[in-house]
Amino acid sequence: MKARTVQADAPPVVTVQGLVKTFRRAGRWPWSPHREVPAVQGVDLRVAPGEVVALVGQSGSGKTTVSRIVLGLEDPTAGAVLLEGQPWSELPEAARRPRRVHYQYVPQDAMGALDPQQTALEHIVETLVVLGGCPRGEAGPRAQAMLERLGLGARLHALPRELSGGEQRRVTLARVLALDPRLVVADEPTSGLDPDRRESVLEALIGNLPPGAGCILVTHDMSEARGWCHRVLAMLAGRVIEEVDLSVAEPVHPYARILFDPWSAPVPRGPLATTGCPFRPDCPLAVGDLAARCAAEVPTLRTVGPAAHRHRVACHALSADRPSSPAPAAP
Ligand code: SF4
Repeated sequence: MKARTVQADAPPVVTVQGLVKTFRRAGRWPWSPHREVPAVQGVDLRVAPGEVVALVGQSGSGKTTVSRIVLGLEDPTAGAVLLEGQPWSELPEAARRPRRVHYQYVPQDAMGALDPQQTALEHIVETLVVLGGCPRGEAGPRAQAMLERLGLGARLHALPRELSGGEQRRVTLARVLALDPRLVVADEPTSGLDPDRRESVLEALIGNLPPGAGCILVTHDMSEARGWCHRVLAMLAGRVIEEVDLSVAEPVHPYARILFDPWSAPVPRGPLATTGCPFRPDCPLAVGDLAARCAAEVPTLRTVGPAAHRHRVACHALSADRPSSPAPAAP
């Protein structure tokens, strides 16, 4: 990762407080009652200027829902999102619209996000003119310079179908980065790519973020989180179960350790518990006296290790005064 200066003591770019999202699903039959499905259950998150934060977890853990709520693409059921101190989640759409240019989203489906009739260059020019308010005469050279920075100098006039998967991703990144965003939320921007192309897409994104911009990278690839992010939030069943800076500590939560250990058995896919700790059915630590507590009480995030490491974990087996490194016995 290119060195990025994190302004840890400056006002955050994003603050998420007590975020809750519940989806209403239709019953199986027309006469069945609707079901309330909790997708996010009390998430707190903070991104400092210059910081890249990973949201990791399996499908259905709530990471994409959190990222979409941060940018106002979904409304929360409860809780607050502040972008640069502004209560974003409470603003009506008309008030959000002129500020959206500063807060950009990179979708997972690059091909679906591109206009099949527009060349790579035209995509960036239109973005600069329509969203960035850039005069058309200036937009062309700026768009070309951005595409060249992202290694697409020879593909300026290619249509989306003529581009490789990695090149399509880089066009979507160029469109976002051309606007000099203050926050970028990237939802699995490398999914479906081979390892080399993944690296080049992340290099294009994180290496070209404006100084002071924050970034949330949603990923299920732990090597991306380890290699490109300053801090990692691991999610399970709509909750953050661990927050860790991998440059100073390793994950200690038994679920997060499975996620981050490339040699471990696959993450269990059995049903999660609906009371107490959701990981309980698969947790090797929930034994003896602890099992009853794990069954009855949802664990909350608590600090482990030195306070300066800002390492927090939600697990009854890991007490506040337990050091974060070395990690506890392997599951
Ligand atoms: S709270 Fe209990 S069940 Fe959950 S991870 Fe910790 S020990 Fe395992």
